[in-house]
Amino acid sequence: MISINQLFKSFEQGNLKIEVLKGIDLTIKEGEFIAIMGPSGSGKSTLLQLLGGLDTPSSGQVKIHGKDFSGLTEKQRTIVRRKSIGFIFQNYQLLPTLTVEENIGFPLYADGRKDKNMKEKIRNMIKEVGLEGFEKKAPNLLSGGQQQRVSIARALIHEPKILLADEPTGNLDRQRAKEILDLLAKFNKQRKQSIIMVTHDIFAASYADKIILFKDGLIETEVTREDHGYAEYLASFLA
Ligand code: ADP
Ligand code: MG
Repeated sequence: MISINQLFKSFEQGNLKIEVLKGIDLTIKEGEFIAIMGPSGSGKSTLLQLLGGLDTPSSGQVKIHGKDFSGLTEKQRTIVRRKSIGFIFQNYQLLPTLTVEENIGFPLYADGRKDKNMKEKIRNMIKEVGLEGFEKKAPNLLSGGQQQRVSIARALIHEPKILLADEPTGNLDRQRAKEILDLLAKFNKQRKQSIIMVTHDIFAASYADKIILFKDGLIETEVTREDHGYAEYLASFLA
């Protein structure tokens, strides 16, 4: 569904050129749950930005359903992004002046479409993420785990095929992290939503069908659940 082809990205800093992605090739199937791990600064967030069309590559392509997404104009990319992609982040990035239900409904309002099922969609989503009773509250009155639930609900309200998650459990304790991961796994299974999750947490990565290890802007190794040695690979992070 997504294919990444010889993706390069560099940034100019003064007269210095920093090459962050150095030729990434990767294919992501429909409904696949992928974890990306690797040292800080190795380019993981940059890759998510390119996958989400928030930035453009220096060269190479991101193709969604065979169409070159990264080659579109910003306006065209925004249309694709609103339809097909949801984002969640470590720090939730909720809008502090809106209530929980307004945050969740935001992508639907932003679309400008009059969606007559909007209220019902929001109500169902609130139920699915377990936030009944919190509809009218401001996000900053919620715990971290609850705020991440709001952000997941907002990311998925328009039923995108792809969810990009940048360290979604990075600010949560183990129990709260588990609840968030269980929720992501539920959506991934029920709706065949592909998930691409950057994480430092091996527990989080163990939810994925495939783990990719990034190093210096390149994929060093990838291992799938069916691969012989998957468990050992996971364990090697803990060693
Ligand atoms: P990771 O998420 O793996 O920690 P990032 O993708 O955030 O790594 O960053 C990789 C490198 O790219 C870092 O050295 C970072 O400073 C640099 N970088 C990321 N975004 C920008 C930007 N917009 N301008 C300049 N440098 C950037
Ligand atoms: Mg990062």
